[in-house]
Amino acid sequence: MSINQTSLEEIKTRIDIEEVVSDFVSLKRKGQNLWACCPFHDEKTPSFSVSPTKGIFKCFGCGKAGDAIEFIKEIEGLNYIESMRYLGKKYSVQLEEEEDTPEEQERQSQREGLFIVLGFAKDYFHDLLLNQPEGQSIGLSYFKERGFNQQIIKDFELGYSLDKWDGLLHEALKRGYKKEILLAAGLIIEKEEKTYDRFRGRVIFPIHSITGKVIAFGARTLKSDQGAKYINSPETDVYQKSKVLYGLHQGRNAIRQDDNCYLVEGYTDVLSLHLSGIQNVVASSGTSLTDDQIKLIKRYTNNITVLFDGDSAGIKASLRGIDMILASGAHVRVVEFPEGEDPDSYARKLGTDEFQKFLQAEKTDFISYKTQLFLKEAAEDPIARAATIKEVVRSISKIPDALQRAVYIKQCSDLLEVDESLLISELNKIQLQSTGRFKAAQPPLATNLITEEKSRSSGLPDAVARQERESIRLLLNYGDRKLEGETSLHQYYFSELEEVEFKTSAYQQILSLIRAELDNHGIVDTKRLMEQVTGEVKTEMIDLLTERYEISNMWMEKFRIYVPTEEDILPNVAYSNLLRLKYRVIKKLIAENREELRMAKPEEQQNLLQVDVALKKSRNEIANHLGIIISD
Ligand SMILES: [Zn+2]
Repeated sequence: MSINQTSLEEIKTRIDIEEVVSDFVSLKRKGQNLWACCPFHDEKTPSFSVSPTKGIFKCFGCGKAGDAIEFIKEIEGLNYIESMRYLGKKYSVQLEEEEDTPEEQERQSQREGLFIVLGFAKDYFHDLLLNQPEGQSIGLSYFKERGFNQQIIKDFELGYSLDKWDGLLHEALKRGYKKEILLAAGLIIEKEEKTYDRFRGRVIFPIHSITGKVIAFGARTLKSDQGAKYINSPETDVYQKSKVLYGLHQGRNAIRQDDNCYLVEGYTDVLSLHLSGIQNVVASSGTSLTDDQIKLIKRYTNNITVLFDGDSAGIKASLRGIDMILASGAHVRVVEFPEGEDPDSYARKLGTDEFQKFLQAEKTDFISYKTQLFLKEAAEDPIARAATIKEVVRSISKIPDALQRAVYIKQCSDLLEVDESLLISELNKIQLQSTGRFKAAQPPLATNLITEEKSRSSGLPDAVARQERESIRLLLNYGDRKLEGETSLHQYYFSELEEVEFKTSAYQQILSLIRAELDNHGIVDTKRLMEQVTGEVKTEMIDLLTERYEISNMWMEKFRIYVPTEEDILPNVAYSNLLRLKYRVIKKLIAENREELRMAKPEEQQNLLQVDVALKKSRNEIANHLGIIISD
């Protein structure tokens, strides 16, 4: 299915961020903006703001920010197209699905057929569990023994399959479902011209899509002699097990609210945690954790807590999977259960309150956990200790954020009682190994990596970048204000900057967009600008549109003091920003020119020296205006 581009545009023009956000939180007006307690993190005083004129939201607590579409994506856990569908519904815009090709239509009706027959099977199994003597005496009594109450059975639509070859098959054919669709849904098996039910004499755990449709089943046998304890539906057109998490449909709101997702192994672990009042839990059932599953969780939270069964063989096997979570940039914690216990058994043993306390108390940061785990085993054995260091550093090397890596290196050097520099050199070795094959070696020192990454992520931008950022901030926020007479800030900047190109690519990109907006429309509409950028540039733009001005407003309200707003002193701010920008650019030119001079042949020197003199003259003039004293 596809969506018509013009209807997408139509929706975008109708979006009113205040209306969109108000469906989820109640906003209060303060000054130009609207405020509420943030729906994305837990807080008691509002730091979540919405600017109707700019069409954006931003939380000063957790940093979440974006436009109305972003808001829907985030809060409903939808992708872009799903969010546009949501907004289309809200604003009654027909999404005018374009005419599908016959193959697409065929595929679509096949998928819908699967959903229908899977829905039928779910109801059939659920009804057997609750109302049929075999289902009650075997299935229902098993669930009750485990303490599963009616609510859980209903929420997860648990079921039972009769202990015979054609229970479902017979009922389905009687209702008019074709054998082909039952086969395609993985409900029956065809072998040597015999056809029979896949699930027989088992309790049934339906697996839901995020939106709550049943897409597959997991089934547990209750007999000791009947093959595999658990079997699952095979992959079908609607079920790719690597892209599904059990419990996500039921737990997604809780995951977002608690800003944490517990990761367990099995269906019953998920159910037991729900019984203990913990709903932010999922299981990667029937597969070891995949990248797609991690991405799914990250739609809702960046914090993942892995619950380990208490047996050390199992833990070691799970460790590599966790490196994958680290690589996704998520923050990983672990809880280890006592020997012989799993989340399901232990939750039942402790009861709700104690179990919750246990999780809180035992939650350990993964890197420290892994360090201690290996350290325990290595004890005084120097060879094992060396292996431990390698193992731990390997995990740290997966973390994408350089600052975080540096923190862990420090922490582990304390735990392992080895010099930080030793860990850093180990880290460099691993990173060189993993990147060397694809590109030239990175600067090998961890310290280099850190400063480099810091400045890239604008934590510590260099002086020119800082002034460029300030220019863009002023242009975005005050572009149409008049400075003197009829000259607007836009005009002032563009006449002063002429054809100057910013060296930071994000700022240059925004600068060109602003220029184009002025050329094409005569005014700069920030909403329209925002639609033209993505990713980091968009985030940066939102930051620039919100940060300082909002904060000073908040301070004024909080302390009832008068702070001259930036607008009051705008001409000065703009003037000094441009001067500083020019000053930095000239300083850079001087340095470059001197470098050239150093390498120059004698006959070129005279010319370069003259350039040096001219540049210094301009620099000194600007420095005078700025009140900067020059030493050379
Ligand atoms: Zn927040």
